[in-house]
Amino acid sequence: MSVLELSRVSKTYDGGITALRDANLTIAPGDDLAIVGPSGSGKSTLLNLMGTLDRPTSGTIEISGTDTSQLSDAELSRLRSRWIGFVFQQSHLAERLDAVDNVTAGLLYAGVPRSQRRDRAVAALDRVGLGHRHDHLPHQLSGGERQRVGIARALVNAPAMVLADEPTGALDQATGRSVLALFRELNAQGTTIAVITHDSSVAAAFSRRVKIRDGLLTEEVVR
Ligand code: ADP
Repeated sequence: MSVLELSRVSKTYDGGITALRDANLTIAPGDDLAIVGPSGSGKSTLLNLMGTLDRPTSGTIEISGTDTSQLSDAELSRLRSRWIGFVFQQSHLAERLDAVDNVTAGLLYAGVPRSQRRDRAVAALDRVGLGHRHDHLPHQLSGGERQRVGIARALVNAPAMVLADEPTGALDQATGRSVLALFRELNAQGTTIAVITHDSSVAAAFSRRVKIRDGLLTEEVVR
């Protein structure tokens, strides 16, 4: 079963701009995928639809076999918190919470008992290479380390897919490369990853590359 399936998905905003046209996209378990396109091409629109943060004008979006159009907003947010781990350009950490508590915050909506939250957060930090930074506050971490905390927070629910929006956009090149290497490592361990970027050198780090231009998707490399 696919992790995410978009079938003939279009999005037209109030005012008449069609930002996505008839998009078909299937993400299978274990995929690593980049969606690359210039500013204004429809990337944020696609990200919001893939992440079930917005609903399409037409077409269907299935998450692990569930048609999202049949769900209420509350059902959709429950499904989203279980199935998708978001990573953003900025790590959006709470400055007063240490690394473990920032990651634990990612579990609040997933119904994990308190006793297990800390263990899971520590395990997620270990996976992103921050085993030695558990009790550091965000201001004691480098930009790359903060983004790793953000990635640990996305992983802590064991999502079916990590969906990342310009995850290296705020980092210098070397740090960005190390974050991409982390994504490859996580993918090799089985995590499904989709990254949205304007940067073709970021997209080059992924096995599947889908181009978006004027709201149209074309797959660049077929595996
Ligand atoms: P990107 O993320 O690649 O820059 P967007 O998805 O933000 O592209 O935008 C694609 C097109 O849709 C643009 O023409 C943009 O102006 C338009 N657009 C995006 N969001 C809205 C909105 N909420 N209302 C109206 N038009 C929008």
